[in-house]
Amino acid sequence: VFVTFEGGDGAGKTTHIRFLANALSAMGREVVCLREPGGTEVGEQLRGVVLNPANSNICDGSELLIFEAARAQLVSQVIAPALERGAVVLCDRFTDSTVAYQGYGRGLDRAFVEAANAFACQGIVPDRTILLVADSAAEGLERATRRAGADRMERAGEDFHARVNAAFLEIAEKNPRRVRLVRSNGRKSHTAVQVFAQLADLFPW
Ligand code: C5P
Ligand code: MG
Repeated sequence: VFVTFEGGDGAGKTTHIRFLANALSAMGREVVCLREPGGTEVGEQLRGVVLNPANSNICDGSELLIFEAARAQLVSQVIAPALERGAVVLCDRFTDSTVAYQGYGRGLDRAFVEAANAFACQGIVPDRTILLVADSAAEGLERATRRAGADRMERAGEDFHARVNAAFLEIAEKNPRRVRLVRSNGRKSHTAVQVFAQLADLFPW
């Protein structure tokens, strides 16, 4: 089973992946937790390249291809084999982030972004995607930038983040079966309950 978590910076993806991973492990499932970009040695190196403030001159096209390179590596080296052996794969960001950030945020050609995603994924599509939405995008962004080392995306400006957040909502509307919106304001435990509810057909809670 393949579940991805999406949403703007600071929406709580990492926290809720950890909750879910713990619950599934306690049920005896093998859980593989990943993040994008990253999750492999090559991918973590590419993450270092694209998120390094010293590389702020990376052009939009290069940015897209670096994310796709990291993804192609992650899918072939980790995700495909894990799904093959029946593990649950939880991924912090995946293809929807690329559509939202590089497609809508940077304004790159959307058909090309979709094609690049498909190329990197080799037919693998998440069974479910949890879209975490912080009450106001500004609040999530504030949470994210308060953390040490805000990266180039997190400093990209309010317009950029508004486009990204609108894109995530549009993706959810277009894919109602796969993508489930969960609001992440309020108590973390309350959000976690909603996340679990949106996965109830995949796991016997
Ligand atoms: O998930 P995390 O916050 O660690 O992502 C690192 C950064 O990469 C974020 O600031 C996010 O905005 C950015 N990103 C991006 N395009 C993607 C995936 C992540 O701009 N496709
Ligand atoms: Mg971040």
